Amino acid sequence: MTDQTKYVYDLNEGDASLKSLLGGKGANLAEMNRIGVPVPDAFTVTTQACVAAMNNNGEWPAGLREQVEAALDRLEERTGKVLGSTENPLLVSIRSGAVFSMPGMMDTVLNLGISDDTVGAVAALADGNERFAWDCYRRFIQMYGEVVEGVDQYVFEDALTEAKEAKGVANDTDLNAEDLKALTKKFKELADEALGGHWTTDPREQLMRAINAVFLSWNNPRAEVYRKANGISRDLGTAVNVQQMVFGNRGETSATGVCFSRNPSTGAKELYGEFLTNAQGEDVVAGIRTPRNLAEMEDVLPEAFHELLATMDKLELHNKDLQDMEFTIEDRKLYMLQTRNGKRTAAAAVKSAVDMVDEGLITKEEALLRINPSDLDALLHPAIDPNFKATAIVKGLPASPGAAVGALSFNADDAAERGGKGESVILVRYETTPDDIHGVMVSQGVLTAHGGMTSHAAVVARGMGITCVAGAPGIKIDPKGETVTIGDKTYGTGDTLTLNGTTGEVFEGAAPLVPPSINEDFEQVGAWADEYRRLGVRANAENFEDASKARELGAEGIGLARTEHMFMAADRLPSVRKMILATNEEERAAALEEILPLQQADFEEIFSAMKGLPVTVRLLDPPLHEFLPNIVDQSLLVQKLELTGGSEEDLARERTLLAQVKSLHEQNPMLGTRGCRLAMLYPSIPEMQARAIIRAALAVQEREGETAGIEIMVPLVVIKKELEVQRDIVVKAVEDEFEKAGKRLDYTVGTMIEIPRAALTANEIAEAADFFSFGTNDLTQTGIGISRDDAEAGFLGHYVDAEVMSKNPFESLDQSGVGQLVEMGVEKGRSTKPGLKTGVCGEHGGDPESVEFFHRAGLDYVSCSPFRVPIARLAAARAALREQ
Ligand code: ADP
Ligand code: MG
Ligand code: MG
Repeated sequence: MTDQTKYVYDLNEGDASLKSLLGGKGANLAEMNRIGVPVPDAFTVTTQACVAAMNNNGEWPAGLREQVEAALDRLEERTGKVLGSTENPLLVSIRSGAVFSMPGMMDTVLNLGISDDTVGAVAALADGNERFAWDCYRRFIQMYGEVVEGVDQYVFEDALTEAKEAKGVANDTDLNAEDLKALTKKFKELADEALGGHWTTDPREQLMRAINAVFLSWNNPRAEVYRKANGISRDLGTAVNVQQMVFGNRGETSATGVCFSRNPSTGAKELYGEFLTNAQGEDVVAGIRTPRNLAEMEDVLPEAFHELLATMDKLELHNKDLQDMEFTIEDRKLYMLQTRNGKRTAAAAVKSAVDMVDEGLITKEEALLRINPSDLDALLHPAIDPNFKATAIVKGLPASPGAAVGALSFNADDAAERGGKGESVILVRYETTPDDIHGVMVSQGVLTAHGGMTSHAAVVARGMGITCVAGAPGIKIDPKGETVTIGDKTYGTGDTLTLNGTTGEVFEGAAPLVPPSINEDFEQVGAWADEYRRLGVRANAENFEDASKARELGAEGIGLARTEHMFMAADRLPSVRKMILATNEEERAAALEEILPLQQADFEEIFSAMKGLPVTVRLLDPPLHEFLPNIVDQSLLVQKLELTGGSEEDLARERTLLAQVKSLHEQNPMLGTRGCRLAMLYPSIPEMQARAIIRAALAVQEREGETAGIEIMVPLVVIKKELEVQRDIVVKAVEDEFEKAGKRLDYTVGTMIEIPRAALTANEIAEAADFFSFGTNDLTQTGIGISRDDAEAGFLGHYVDAEVMSKNPFESLDQSGVGQLVEMGVEKGRSTKPGLKTGVCGEHGGDPESVEFFHRAGLDYVSCSPFRVPIARLAAARAALREQ
């Protein structure tokens, strides 16, 4: 059977719509060509070919080799050049290009086609520029050797350094034709040494091997880490672009660079980019030479500069998004080598989207769909206190904004390990390579000695919202990589530094941070989101500050006010213990009497912060032992008193306490006497809480003319009867308070749905409930049957790494499993009570994907921590827009 699949597309056969086949790079190259932007000619091997090879132990699908040969013939015909020709040789690059851009994660080979046979012709065609030809050749051996044949990069790096040292120069550009010729010879010897006879000089064979190497690079470790971090599926594969070379290293009238159509840090519409004359490919981003600001190109290469400006505008207008572009100028002629929607900071995402709506480039809807809700998190991060007046110990480039405080780490593995354990670390590197990604990801910030605003470190950090200061001048990292010397001081792994990624400054020690300021653009996005969303957004908060913050960030009420934190405060614990340990109802009532006014005061604060909006107060939930000393500690205390002969009185008291702790001890407290089960045993607790709530609400009403909407929530109900009993207790207490006060308020009594049985019998429970709130944390624990406290530290990490589970179900709702319980709860609840109000108050209420699910499940609102409110608002709007 012959394979009819088309695996190869010529440049002029593609366009932007073919992204899934041609990859982002290939599709955009074709699209640029289509709209008349100068692009070197090329062909693209599809992602489908890569996938087919991967699925067949790396063996190419039938017909692929022939299709590549044919495409090469056509490319030779179009360019008038021939691969391997000694008169007019074609040189090509072999470039990876996945569907979703993964900058620097996979491999590229440049200058393929240069060899002992062709190097002379390459020089002749470049007006006899020998230096240029040998520069291309040595670069080729280096890249091909590393990428295709797996020669260790240090083999070549060391030889290059030696050559420079021998000559006493710092830059590659200071090596002349003779030097480069010798270096090429050395490189070839080194490659031969490393590989024995495996090296091939046949350019067609080299091309096939290079294409294959790009296929394989899809599964290299750094690409895998990047894919995981960005939720990109392993099944997609990469395309491979084979493109005619253009040369930025043909002397001072040639250059290569990177530019953005807007500032990717701030979003401002201004010139942003870097370039180097007489340079090729990665030189700009690799940080080997420090690149020049793009603005300076106007003086050096004015015509190409103005053409570049016009091209940037054209590409942004065409793609209607911030573009990140690569260009090369060969002897004053401009070529575009790549364009893509640029990675940007959250601040830039918000600003550029709002500006583009103002400019009429995109609609409000497009703006909302473009901003990733989780990115907003970064905007809500702290900055260095503006009143902080220390002098920076060094100032580098402001590569990714924000403030980072952390202890130093000098290699990615160490940073990954310490950061993974929750330590705040700053990764300090000479320059970061894509191999450092796992360390960058978990660091607070990255500091590099080399590299510019478009270096890998900068691009990756910006994309992940991690602070980065790049190219800090004069900092010295010791060769062992254990200390960094800045000025005349040396800092090691125990030392802390602060980075200001917005200014590039680095400070000694931990600078004071201030909460983030939310600007107009941010507010604008929130306001647009509110126009489109159906789902309400509330916050989980239990004090005045959090409630006020939540309201400021757009919360429409409180979906969960826990009351146990109020019990934990040091001044209350004695009364709480008295209540728990009471041996009769009178003692208990007396203890509760002490607690009531304290609870009332807490509620007054919250109701005042949320006046006019609903507040759901959850009655006491945790098991009582949480308020008592730990059983082991208490046993030890008693033993100690026995041994040291403590007073009879002390001993008796501590022994009684130990006996009580023992009697309350449970093997599985999270499945034990907690929630309404506790309230069933001790009805005076919910009664006291109900009274405190109503007194607070009436007091705020009286004092401030308005109070919050009162919703009293009973936790952990699994049987309708439980809710009926609790409801009775609450209603009696509430009515009694109304009577005493001679005033009334509206209030409702509802329940949490957080155990599978509650979801399964939601139709029954709804008869006694005014509202449901899904406690998705407990529903996840009990629905999947995993303990959050144990699993997150234990097997769950392995499950996620090994892709047994795609995500931690406590962070993002297990939609296909636990999600069914939510859907069932809503549906069954509403089958009894049409229009029953339903919400979510678990951690998932602030997770964008879960929020979209809750929207589809028909819930009325989500509730999340105050700082996630803007994220939930945007996610809810996107859910509504996607549905349209
Ligand atoms: P990445 O995905 O890591 O950016 P690229 O495939 O874009 O890798 O290529 C790496 C570098 O080589 C880029 O700077 C690119 O502009 C340059 N390059 C790639 N192909 C060519 C070419 N045909 N001519 C000149 N430079 C090229
Ligand atoms: Mg690129
Ligand atoms: Mg719960």
